[in-house]
Amino acid sequence: MLDQDTIFMRQALDQGHNAWTLGEVPVGAVLIRDGKVVATGFNQPIGTHDPTAHAEIMALRAAAESLGNYRLTGCELYVTLEPCAMCVGAMLHARLKRVVFGAFDPKTGAAGSVVNLFSEAQLNHQTEVQGGVLAEACGQMLKDFFTERRKNAKNNRTEEDSDLMEDEL
Ligand SMILES: [Zn+2]
Repeated sequence: MLDQDTIFMRQALDQGHNAWTLGEVPVGAVLIRDGKVVATGFNQPIGTHDPTAHAEIMALRAAAESLGNYRLTGCELYVTLEPCAMCVGAMLHARLKRVVFGAFDPKTGAAGSVVNLFSEAQLNHQTEVQGGVLAEACGQMLKDFFTERRKNAKNNRTEEDSDLMEDEL
């Protein structure tokens, strides 16, 4: 039998694929309470013209609306990529109980890779965090996405595209 972390990280991966389908960098998230999915989200800043539309923020917003409470006490969030500083901030505001992420992000990861906002004892809320769950599958989804993007850009041969990609993560 699969453990809970594997089951929900797989669902987060499915959410990441939704982002890919829309041409967004594939990152997905699911938010659960008492072992049940409360909300899902995927990365969509380009389509929504919203720099804050990361998978985690989308899932937090949907969960808070569905539960009718901006505090998500007792909830756990699964996300395929290590969250950035903005998302960790939002998670702490939401009072999440636990955060589980897949691949590490050496460029913007705020759960240990660049900084670790979860380990700041002075912050008023402590959220448990665990990284590296299905890390390979989560990282591979991003790699495959960028490989495909590069291939397409080569076919179009515009320098703008390759500049854009460098910045993307
Ligand atoms: Zn983020």
